[in-house]
Amino acid sequence: MKRVSILGATGSIGQNTIDLISRDPDSYDVVALTGSRNVAQLASDARNLRADVAVIADESRLSELRVALAGSGVEAAAGRMALIEAAQRPADWVMSAIVGAAGLEPGLAALEHGATLALANKESMVCAGPLMLRTATSHGGRILPVDSEHSAVFQALLGEDITTVERIVITASGGAFRDWPIEALADATPEQAATHPNWAMGQRITIDSASMFNKALELIETREYFGVDPSVIETLVHPESMVHALVGFRDGAMMAHVGPPDMRHAIGFALHYPQRRELPVERLDLAALGSLTFRPACEVRWPALRLAREVMTRGGLSGAIFNAAKEAALDAFLERRIGFTRMAGIVEEVLAAAEGQPGLIDAAFTLDNVRAADHFARSSATDTLAA
Ligand code: NAD
Ligand code: MG
Repeated sequence: MKRVSILGATGSIGQNTIDLISRDPDSYDVVALTGSRNVAQLASDARNLRADVAVIADESRLSELRVALAGSGVEAAAGRMALIEAAQRPADWVMSAIVGAAGLEPGLAALEHGATLALANKESMVCAGPLMLRTATSHGGRILPVDSEHSAVFQALLGEDITTVERIVITASGGAFRDWPIEALADATPEQAATHPNWAMGQRITIDSASMFNKALELIETREYFGVDPSVIETLVHPESMVHALVGFRDGAMMAHVGPPDMRHAIGFALHYPQRRELPVERLDLAALGSLTFRPACEVRWPALRLAREVMTRGGLSGAIFNAAKEAALDAFLERRIGFTRMAGIVEEVLAAAEGQPGLIDAAFTLDNVRAADHFARSSATDTLAA
């Protein structure tokens, strides 16, 4: 039996992970499930999967969780420390699917116990890639990418020599506003931004797809995972979301990963790796599809892509600043305090302000320094919003 834990079990990735595990319950021993607010979902999954412990991040919901788990034998816990403690419980495979920088510490806690970390939480790699990789290596753990693009690149690179890679092309659907006139973007609402043409995902990543901040995070994530020069990494708009990424080699060959937009592929690949097992995803009928289309990614429409390039070149803790500023700007957009196009401006201003802080960006990759950079970016974003 494989011992598994799911951090962020109540979210979109968490639920897709539970879907796969529930199809083969005899193969998995579920250790911990966590959520932040949805007690009913968390308790029902913890009961069905006979988890050892269920943790709700919001401490005010502990008594509600206790009631929901009464008589089940599942331990109930709440709060940030309980979340970290759950992540530390011995497990073979841990899904990191909390959204945002909040996923960093629980993921690190799992790696410190030598687990294989299936990493959907791309923010961890963006904020602290070197720290994540170092923690995995020094404790005999491993990180497997669960972003569809990065799983695709990982698969295209199996058996290949990374030094022969000439290009890594990350595809983007273009999100909700792909075909909107640029002038209309300033008035876009959170509701309009929270719809995605192809993927069913959490609200925050869906809005980040419309602004391409999601793709921006993924470009930085690519650099951190695969250690390639930023000049190797390209973005390509591909409205159908069937080709998830392409890797180009020095002999001119390109390996593309093609499949339906269903996260259970990337999750299942990481769950069974290094084996390939059957997965309940749709099989593509390319003749029925007829054609797949591609177009360049415009950095005027999507300034987040330009900012990602600047962050990749700058290195250091600029990824942590970028991510935290983006999270703060997204909160302000969701609260209707700023318009859709203002988000990129805020991130750009916070990055510039960070340059004025001696030693902030170039500090060593420790958890404390990543936290300090994150904290600076959030308070600088607050100042920028108030100005
Ligand atoms: P979601 O919003 O659906 O779920 C997020 C999960 O995190 C929930 O379980 C929620 O309860 C928990 N959570 C939120 N804030 C928390 C906090 N402060 N502390 C503890 N737990 C908290 O998000 P999602 O779409 O499942 O995405 C999860 C992660 O996976 C994100 O990093 C996202 O970028 C990444 N990802 C998602 C997809 C996708 O298809 N949904 C694809 C690739 C990568
Ligand atoms: Mg992705």
